[in-house]
Amino acid sequence: MSYTYDDQNIFAKILRGEIPCSQVLETEHSLAFNDISEQAPHHVLVIPKGPYVCYDHFATAATDAEVVDFTRAIGAVCKALGVEPGAGGSGYRLIANSGAHAVQEVPHLHVHILGGRPLGRMLKQV
Ligand code: AMP
Repeated sequence: MSYTYDDQNIFAKILRGEIPCSQVLETEHSLAFNDISEQAPHHVLVIPKGPYVCYDHFATAATDAEVVDFTRAIGAVCKALGVEPGAGGSGYRLIANSGAHAVQEVPHLHVHILGGRPLGRMLKQV
């Protein structure tokens, strides 16, 4: 596995404060903000602050502290949105597009949290 991180990607610029975002949550190692082109009433992106291109890169190269922080940040956003099924919420979907077949547009790991309406089946065709 080999990844080269492009530090000119738009999420790197958000992390450096060069462009604004609609922040939802910030932790030691993670940042969550609203997607600029929302596809559901709730559409939040959670990113690690470290330079990871996609999920498998993060899973391999991140520290345990970063992995725990990122995972907990996703949970905290779900709680803040009130979508947790276990707390009476209507549920949500996590998406982490990685690479060409998944049409990853921004080469900095991000997990989409989508909710607030029925989201349909995961994929429409095989
Ligand atoms: P993906 O196809 O998984 O790489 O999705 C990238 C996402 O980033 C898209 O849903 C975009 O709407 C979102 N996006 C791009 N630029 C920004 C930005 N400046 N602030 C918030 N979201 C953004």
